[in-house]
Order: sequence, then structure tokens, then C-alpha cells
Amino acid sequence: DIGGLFQESLGAVQTVQAFTREQEEVARLNGLIEQGFDATRKQLQTRAQLTFVSVSLVLTTVIVVMYVGGLHVLKGTTTSGQLIEFVLYAMFAGTSMAALSDVYSDYTKTVGATERMFQLLDEKPGIMSPEHPDPLPNGGGELTFDNITFAYTSRPGINVLTGLTLRIKPGETIAIVGPSGAGKTTLFQLLLRFYDPVSGAISLDGTDIRRLDPRDLRRAVAWVSQEQVLFSATIGENIRYGRLTATTDEVATAAKAAQIHDFIESLPGKYDTPLGERGMQLSGGQRQRLSIARAILRDPRVLLLDEATSFLDAENEAAIAHALAPLMENRTTLIIAHRLSTVVSADRIVVIDEGRVIAEGGHETLLKECPLYTRLAAGRFNLAES
Ligand code: ADP
Repeated sequence: DIGGLFQESLGAVQTVQAFTREQEEVARLNGLIEQGFDATRKQLQTRAQLTFVSVSLVLTTVIVVMYVGGLHVLKGTTTSGQLIEFVLYAMFAGTSMAALSDVYSDYTKTVGATERMFQLLDEKPGIMSPEHPDPLPNGGGELTFDNITFAYTSRPGINVLTGLTLRIKPGETIAIVGPSGAGKTTLFQLLLRFYDPVSGAISLDGTDIRRLDPRDLRRAVAWVSQEQVLFSATIGENIRYGRLTATTDEVATAAKAAQIHDFIESLPGKYDTPLGERGMQLSGGQRQRLSIARAILRDPRVLLLDEATSFLDAENEAAIAHALAPLMENRTTLIIAHRLSTVVSADRIVVIDEGRVIAEGGHETLLKECPLYTRLAAGRFNLAES
């Protein structure tokens, strides 16, 4: 429990600090350490009692053996040599038995651990490649979500998506808007096949994605998420994560397209500059441009973009829009959009609410016909831009 709490509070140390909960976390830890101390004390007490009992038993046995043996020696039925012999053998046998009990407890521990290990090895992932997967079909990234209903296994019966249907033409750019919790991210996760829908089907270029090897599917899709996951490796390696076989030139070309090349060149180690844990040394905008470079290198058929909500200044925003333009060109793009500029420049806007598509079309039409869209636009998008 102490280890778990350590991991949890240190892992989220920024959140702890941001919410100034250091004292409470320390108090929580102190409480657990007190409990641990009590448990150890109880353990020591029990062990002391056990030792007392076993030592007393051993001593009593020795005294009884010596007494009975002594009587026999006095009577002449046993020689003193035989008595010494017996005591020695009894001691050997006794200590060996004690050692055996240790071996037994080690054995049971090992069996327990092995069972757990095999349970883990036997665990079947919920998402598997079919035995004979279809090859990735040729095409330009046509997508269909056909009557999708989905509930997370951790919350069965609570449908996150309910009969969602959406058709996307190859190369189309779709802006997805909807209130928080509407199911937008879930849609991306289903498309990447992190989960399977409860009913309905998703297909890519006419093939049900469950018929594909998930690795092939994911190779055709790139996800630039809001939570930019960078690894503690060099900048170059982080970009190359998009395609491990990419050459140094290709990495640089992708970085140029993502408007991050000049920044990288200005660093002392250039592409070999190591990033700290999860890219802590970069600004939000730089992290996102790095992720875009990674997606460019992947050259996917379908691009999933989770637009960053707030942390970008105007300059960074413009740079990112610039970086994205070549990436989105001739590519099916789904954007979870938070900015009006993105929404209006999309080919089509899809409004999702409570797990279904409630309206789709262009900005002007939706403003007239969809009250939810009008509300979202008024509250979350900067209408002065339009
Ligand atoms: P959006 O991206 O539109 O804000 P999400 O797709 O993230 O919405 O979430 C839709 C609903 O699914 C929410 O009610 C959320 O609480 C729930 N949800 C998201 N991820 C999980 C998960 N891993 N397990 C259980 N429920 C989840």
C-alpha cells in the first residue's frame, strides 16, 4: 500500500502541487506508514511468541530424552555411548526436518507465484487479429461508422455511443464538435480498434476493421492526440517513432513541414538533443508540432487530430495550422475541433451529442438548424473570427 501511494502521488506530482495538496498527501502517507509500523510490530510479537513455544518444546524434549536415557544407562539396559549416539542423531534429524519445513514454504510460495505468472501468460487480449486477416484494402481512406453502439467494459450497460452512423469520403476533412463527454474521443479509440463496438461495424475502404490485422489498421492511421506523448529519448528518435525505418533526411523533411526544424537546429544537440521525461522541456506548441512531424513521417491514410484546447498562443496556433495544412491535404482527416477557424475550414462539420450524430453540414447551415451547435459556437468558439 505504501509503495502504491508513493507511485501514485509522485507520478502525479504536478497535479498534487497544482492543487496544493502536498500536506494531505504527506498526511495520507504518514497514516499508511503508521499502519505499516503497527503491522510490523504485531508480526514481531507473534514471531517472539512462536519462538518461545518452539524453544520450550525443544528444551523439554532434550530434558525428557536425557532423563529417560539416563535412567536406562543407570539400569544398564543402554550404554552411555548409545545414549550420546541417539541424542546426536535426534538433533540431526530434528534440524533436517526444520530445514525441510523452510523448503516447503519456499515451494508453496513458488507454486503460488508460478500460478500467477501462468494466469498472466494465459490472459487473452480482448482485441485480436483474425486468424486469416484480410490485407489492407487499397483506397483513399473512406470510412464508415455503421450504427455503432458501444459501452466501456468497466461501465457495462451505459452506452457511450448509441446507433452512431457516419460516412466519410476519401480525403474529406471532418470537424467533430460536441459537448465534453459526448463520445468524440471514444470514436477515435474505436477506429484505432482499442475496443470493439458492442454492435455495428466500422470499415476502412470497404473492409470491416475487425477483418484486418490491428497492426495494419494502425499503420494506416495516425493519431495526433491532445495529450502529446513524447518519450525520454532524443528529439530525432521521437519523430522517428512515426516510422522507425525513416532516414535522417526524411526526419528533417517531416520536421520542416511541421515547422519545428528551425527550432531543433537552434538547440545545442540538434536532432540528438535528449528530451526529459515525457518531453517536459518543450512548450505545448512545440510538443504538438513534434507530434505532427511524427504523423507526417507515418504518412497515414487517415489522420485523427485531437485539437489542443487552450495552451497555445496566437503565434503557435498559426504555426500549427501551417504545419497541419500539408498533412491534411489529400488525406481523410477527423478533427475533434475546439476552434472556430478549424471548424469553418473543414469540408463538413459533424455535431455529436450523447453518443449520436445529431446534425451535420456546413457552419452557416448548422447555425440556423442546430441549437446545440449555435450554443457551442457561442460558448467555445471565438465568433468574432467569423
Ligand atoms: P469526449 O471526447 O466527447 O469528451 P469521451 O469519448 O472521452 O468524450 O467520453 C465519452 C464518455 O465515455 C464519457 O462519459 C466518459 O466518462 C466515458 N469514458 C471515456 N473513457 C472511458 C473508459 N476508459 N472507461 C469508462 N468510461 C469511459
